[in-house]
Amino acid sequence: MGWVLRLAETGPDAPTESIDLIEIHRSSGLADIANLGLTLSEAKELLARVQQAMVAAQARDHAVRRPSCASCSGLCHLKDWRPRRIATPFGEVVPRLRRWLCADCGRTETGIDWPENCRSTPELNELHANLSALLTYRVAAGVLAHLLPVETGTSLETLRGHTIKVADQLRDAATGPCAAEAPALDISLDATFVRSRHDGERHMEVRVGNVEAPGGGRQVFGTVAKSGTSILALIGRNLAVMGRNGDTKLTAFTDGCSGLRSILTDAGVKDPPILDWYHIAMRLQHAKLSAGGLADETPGRPSAKGFIVAQVERLHWRIWNGKAKNAHVTIDRIRAVMYVFKNEARRRGAGASSGKLWHALHEIDEYLTGQSAWLVNYAKRYRAGLRVGTSITEGTANFLVNRRMNKQQQMRWSRGGADAVLQVRCAIYNGTLGTGFGHLFNPGHEPSQQLAMAA
Ligand SMILES: [Zn+2]
Repeated sequence: MGWVLRLAETGPDAPTESIDLIEIHRSSGLADIANLGLTLSEAKELLARVQQAMVAAQARDHAVRRPSCASCSGLCHLKDWRPRRIATPFGEVVPRLRRWLCADCGRTETGIDWPENCRSTPELNELHANLSALLTYRVAAGVLAHLLPVETGTSLETLRGHTIKVADQLRDAATGPCAAEAPALDISLDATFVRSRHDGERHMEVRVGNVEAPGGGRQVFGTVAKSGTSILALIGRNLAVMGRNGDTKLTAFTDGCSGLRSILTDAGVKDPPILDWYHIAMRLQHAKLSAGGLADETPGRPSAKGFIVAQVERLHWRIWNGKAKNAHVTIDRIRAVMYVFKNEARRRGAGASSGKLWHALHEIDEYLTGQSAWLVNYAKRYRAGLRVGTSITEGTANFLVNRRMNKQQQMRWSRGGADAVLQVRCAIYNGTLGTGFGHLFNPGHEPSQQLAMAA
């Protein structure tokens, strides 16, 4: 059996005859499941032919419209025909466009508003950017060629170029729709690193953060330091989108880095940022694990170990309850008994637990000493239903940066390339890439976020 797919144009000026696009044949019956329905290659061929036929009709329709001169409104005469090569998600098309000449002022007119050096449709650019933000350029190009009738061998440079172009548009875009005015917003800022391909530089700092409304809804943002994307502008824009006004109470979270703190101050956060509980909790966890791993087979050690384990618990409780001063006392008590574990045997493949514990305590001590002003009574906040940290941001940083940009150790980034991928990843997460502004304020996990997080 066989089918012919026929395309018929509609409308008052449509030609009466239709175009045969493609003929498909199958042996009769369904003995072989491989014969069921369209094959991928037939579907790709079909899409390409629909696209060619549509564009040819659009070009023909466009050619009969005689434009008037854009500068003097004079009468235009036919000058010549010019083909324009345009890549689309459904293959390359080459519409022939009439060029007109203004009889009065000599201006060349085409009657189209396409950008001068544009070689692809915005939708293809976005598709390239979207996939490139989730996959490596090479894999993204492969996936597209596998599924769509795009030119095979689309260069990685093309995908990179489109990603940068879409990122530029995202940076320049006006603020999207704004939420209702928010009485309170939480903002967090964190830093991570990607490997640099620039000479004399191993890593580049990447700053990522999010703005959250207590009732739900959030926006993520990020930028590669010194890439030209202003972190202050990003913060301002995201606060605006989340409904900040003059009365909005801003609460900021960050780790100990003073650079991030001053950014938050510059962004208009008046109260000192709170030291993110997540950062302390991680170090307390290290301390707990190494205390639990202390060797206790020699006399005197079991009781010392028991004392230390209990004191580390106490340390946790004291910091959680905002008693940083007393926490110092606890650290001193632990240190006072640690001589018992001097010359502790190293375990295979790892340092001695006492060494790790000493290190973890040192880090906690540094937080308590250097950042005591940023420590709060986390327990009290927690009981009041307020945020104590942004462990959520660690996951966000991981999604925004690590999954794509640190996936392979050898992956090295240019500043502009890394920032472009970051802008697109943020837009995917926020649901603002392309025309889909609709997901912005749904609290919880939107499908677009789940898809994005899976990548
Ligand atoms: Zn003119």
